Amino acid sequence: MALNFSNTEIAFKNKSDNSLRKATWLFKSFNYPFIVEKGPMLAVWALKWHLPFVRGIVRNTIFGQFCGGETVNESMKVVAELNSANIKSILDYSVEGEENEENFDATRDEILRTIEAAKSNPSIAFSVFKSTGIARVALLEKANEHYLKALNENKFLDLNDLENIFKPAEFIEFKKAYQRFTALCDAAAAANINLFVDAEETWIQHTLDAWTESMMLKHNKTSAIIYTTIQMYRHDRIAYTKRLVEIAKANGFFIGIKIVRGAYMEKERERAIEMNYPSPIHIDKESCDKDFNDVIHYCVHTDIISICAGTHNEESSLKLTQWMAEKNIEPSNKRFFFAQLLGMSDNLSFNLAASGYEVAKYVPYGPVLSVLPYLSRRAQENSSVKGQVGRELGLIKQEQQRRRKN
Ligand SMILES: Cc1cc2nc3c(=O)[nH]c(=O)nc-3n(C[C@H](O)[C@H](O)[C@H](O)COP(=O)(O)OP(=O)(O)OC[C@H]3O[C@@H](n4cnc5c(N)ncnc54)[C@H](O)[C@@H]3O)c2cc1C
Repeated sequence: MALNFSNTEIAFKNKSDNSLRKATWLFKSFNYPFIVEKGPMLAVWALKWHLPFVRGIVRNTIFGQFCGGETVNESMKVVAELNSANIKSILDYSVEGEENEENFDATRDEILRTIEAAKSNPSIAFSVFKSTGIARVALLEKANEHYLKALNENKFLDLNDLENIFKPAEFIEFKKAYQRFTALCDAAAAANINLFVDAEETWIQHTLDAWTESMMLKHNKTSAIIYTTIQMYRHDRIAYTKRLVEIAKANGFFIGIKIVRGAYMEKERERAIEMNYPSPIHIDKESCDKDFNDVIHYCVHTDIISICAGTHNEESSLKLTQWMAEKNIEPSNKRFFFAQLLGMSDNLSFNLAASGYEVAKYVPYGPVLSVLPYLSRRAQENSSVKGQVGRELGLIKQEQQRRRKN
């Protein structure tokens, strides 16, 4: 079927009239700064005071739109619904808890459960994790500049090379964090489930890059199992990708990359000003878009790379389909995935899948109270990304009008 992102009949075929009405109400509420800024905080407060009706409201509104459920099992209904439209799922444990060893171990165990669930369910295409869910930021940050230095000198750092930068107790903690990281990668590889390592802030990302590279070296010998993530709002990521290709060729491994624009722009810019260093972020959206599209083009033409375009941007998604066609790459080729977040840009996900492309949705899950920070970010993103709310509302309206006519 010819690809058409404006086909709302396909985009919303899983949505009842009632859920379209609810989505309209929700997206409209994102236009009110008070709701976006104070809503999640008020909900946390109310839930902590055990006001059960608030929990019901949250579950039926923002949680229902953007989350699969509170547990892996509960999310399976959404996974099955998506699968009926040939869309795969990525179970995303979206809990952001306190930084302590107990929570880090619990998060690792929960992510292991998502890998286990994926093993017996072909409609789950990838597993995913955020390293800050299993490691203390301050430790990742302390190692960051050392990994950067090694990168610039073209060297691989062994974990023990870092012993002298930490206090003894810290180094034990750091090693435990690395063990959790490798345990997840090892489990994914043993189960033959592709795994995304999410990208985070630049002041910890060199550590995460180095750890992910070591896991790609270990597990990607015959295909891409471990996927790094690159944020194209950074101006150094094309150079990074090309360097990664050189390393992979020299060491004989495949590369997996999730390509995104990046979620921490304001934070990155503010810190650069505050600490007086050059901003790692592109000067404007156009430069970010150019790098995003350029790196996709580069990856299409580099056979050892498998990619997942994690984006809600129509133009970039379309470009990827065109470049695949130019190279006679079938839409169903598993070297190329498209991914969106649950509750957003269904017009891309459902229409791409209907045209035979490999598509996956992040399906965030976790206890209502614990996923509120995630939901708060979705609300903020939808209110701040230029045109996103308008786009979603316009498509829903178009579909409602189409249904009324039929
Ligand atoms: C499946 C999936 C996985 C994701 N995983 C991650 C992840 O691991 N790490 C992560 O950081 N984010 C992740 N994201 C979020 C992503 O980085 C973007 O924030 C979000 O998707 C919006 O970008 P877009 O390409 O969808 O849409 P667009 O609306 O085209 O782009 C918006 C984005 O452009 C960039 N931008 C906007 N204005 C400017 C400007 N003035 N100058 C420079 N850049 C600008 C910002 O990154 C902004 O978020 C993920 C998103 C998806 C869909």
